[in-house]
Amino acid sequence: MDEAERVDHLADVIAASRRIVVFTGAGVSTESGIPDFRSPTGLWSQIRPITFQEFVKSETARRDDWRRRFASQELFAEVEPNITHRFVAALVEEGRCIGVITQNIDGLHARAGVPEDRLVELHGNGTYAHCLDCGRRVSLVDARKMMAATTASPRCTDCGGLVKAAVISFGEAMPESAMRRAGALADDCDLFLVLGSSLVVQPAASIPLHAKARGATLVLVNREPTALDGYADLCIYGELGKTVAGLQ
Ligand code: NAD
Ligand code: ZN
Repeated sequence: MDEAERVDHLADVIAASRRIVVFTGAGVSTESGIPDFRSPTGLWSQIRPITFQEFVKSETARRDDWRRRFASQELFAEVEPNITHRFVAALVEEGRCIGVITQNIDGLHARAGVPEDRLVELHGNGTYAHCLDCGRRVSLVDARKMMAATTASPRCTDCGGLVKAAVISFGEAMPESAMRRAGALADDCDLFLVLGSSLVVQPAASIPLHAKARGATLVLVNREPTALDGYADLCIYGELGKTVAGLQ
C-alpha cells in the first residue's frame, strides 16, 4: 500500500469502529507551534529536563523549573488547536470516540472541545499548579506573583509545602486515577489510534500494547517509525495535518 492507500484504509477502519480511543503525544501539537521533545529540533536538543528529585532537593532547580513553566504557559496561551485536535474533538462529539488519552500538558484537546470526562491527561496539566504536600491548587498567576515578590520558588500558603506545576516530571509517580482511566479505556476500545507519539516514555507507551492484547485494532500515525510499529495493524508515516485532511 502507498501512503494515500493507507490513509484511505484508515478512513475505512475509523468508519467501521464504534469505540475508538485516541492516544496523543507532543506530535499533535507541533503544527500549532509547540515543539516536541524528540524531533531533531525538539526541546531536548536545547534543554535537559528537570527531574522530580532535583525539584524537591534544590531551590535552583525549582526556580529554573518555574521559569520554564511560565515561558511554556505563555506559549500555550498564544497558540490555537489545529486540524488534528479538531478532528479528535469531532470524533468524541459524534459519540464514536470514547476517550482521548494524552501525554500533552498544553491543554489543546480541551480547548478544541474534548470534555473533561472524555479526556485523560496522563502527564498532568501545565496550566495550573498544586502543593506537593496538601494538594491545594494554585494558579500560575499567583505562583508567578509569589516568585516575583520573594524571588524564591512559591510555597503553599496553608502548609508551607513546595508548590509545583501540576505536570508529571521525570521521576515523579504517575497519577493513579489517570492511569486507571487510561487502562479502562484501553480495555474497552475497538480501535486504538496513536497520533504523534514517539512511544518511548513509560508507562504511557505500554498502554497501546495493552489495548492490542485486549483485541483492539492498533493504528499509529507518526512522522517516523516507533518502537511499537511491529505490533500495529497499520502504520502511517507522515505529517498529521496532511493525514487528517486526507481522512475527511
Ligand atoms: P515526543 O517528542 O517524544 O514524540 C513526538 C513524536 O511525534 C515524534 O516521534 C515526532 O516524530 C512526531 N511528530 C512531531 N510532529 C509531528 C507531526 N506534525 N506529524 C506527525 N508526527 C509528528 O513526544 P511524546 O511521545 O508526547 O512524549 C514526550 C513527553 O513530552 C510527554 O511526556 C509529554 O508530556 C511531553 N511534551 C508535551 C508537549 C505538549 O504538551 N505539547 C510538548 C513537548 C513534550
Ligand atoms: Zn499545602
